[in-house]
Amino acid sequence: MGARLLDGLAVAATIRESVMPRVQAFTARAGRPPGLGIVLVGDNPASELYVSSKVKAGGESGLRVDLQRLPATATLDELLRLVDALNRSDQHDGILVQDPLPEAMGKGASQRVFDAIDPAKDVDGFHPINVGKLVQQRAHLVACTPSGVIEMLDRSGIAIEGRRAVVIGRSDIVGKPMAMLLLHRSATVTICHSKTRDLAALAAEADILVAALGRPGFVTRTFVKPGATVIDVGINRVTDEALARSLLAGSPRLAVFERRRSIVVGDVHPEVAEIAGALTPVPGGVGPLTIAMLLKNTVTAAEARKSGK
Ligand code: NAP
Repeated sequence: MGARLLDGLAVAATIRESVMPRVQAFTARAGRPPGLGIVLVGDNPASELYVSSKVKAGGESGLRVDLQRLPATATLDELLRLVDALNRSDQHDGILVQDPLPEAMGKGASQRVFDAIDPAKDVDGFHPINVGKLVQQRAHLVACTPSGVIEMLDRSGIAIEGRRAVVIGRSDIVGKPMAMLLLHRSATVTICHSKTRDLAALAAEADILVAALGRPGFVTRTFVKPGATVIDVGINRVTDEALARSLLAGSPRLAVFERRRSIVVGDVHPEVAEIAGALTPVPGGVGPLTIAMLLKNTVTAAEARKSGK
């Protein structure tokens, strides 16, 4: 077990502390706290869990967080009307619509909703205007998970400039913005995906390897250069007993699986801890950073709206 574990909970706590004085200053100046509107459609258990963590963290940091729920039977038009009301609300500086939306809303529904959110309130950083600004390196609202990863690297003293970075995954919400942020910090970046050939060999060239593919334990030791920093973005719920046993062998978390018959694991196989130089655990790695960056983005959006930027 050689790898240094990068403690996402500790880094997230530091980020949240650094946001506190900004929340207090905004509240004193505006006569109200920064406001975040979260919309949850349906009752997906994973989304319920993510949303309740966001509501709790926001409240603890002095934000006003309003959770607005729509039933799983809601139409896309109803959701768009709610987004429109939040866009026009003076009390809400940030808007987050929890993904995924119910399949019944139709293909492309998430994109239509992200497109409808006022870019100035787009604390997820998914609006095409904010994505475009990210590409041009002038965004002030950037997707929370990849910007949290950069904070984690910086605050853990891991250099980015000049290093080889490989990102596995090219989604709009993680892989692409992650690659762009690493590029802006002058890493030499390779983006991999399901059609990439010789994936393990490419990944093993990385000084910084980001796994964001959503495949439990996929990244094994053959993907990792000895001493590399490995960032595990994956959040995968495993209910298959054989898989859980192989991924959790020797870990106290196996007892948790046996009790609950379900457990969350990352995209990185535990054996990588023997070869990596630094590694983010799952849970307790990237997840808490995503929430901390959401709070930070909400305060940034509130300050910018107040100052008319
Ligand atoms: P996604 O939209 O499903 O994208 C997955 C990406 O991985 C795609 O680009 C896909 O390639 C690639 N991929 C899938 N299988 C692959 C394989 N066998 N070899 C190489 N590439 C492969 O997922 P996402 O939304 O980016 O999320 C990725 C993971 O991060 C999930 O586990 C998700 O739950 C987790 N996540 C965590 C946080 C957090 O806060 N920690 C936040 C967001 C997401 P193609 O494009 O070719 O299909």
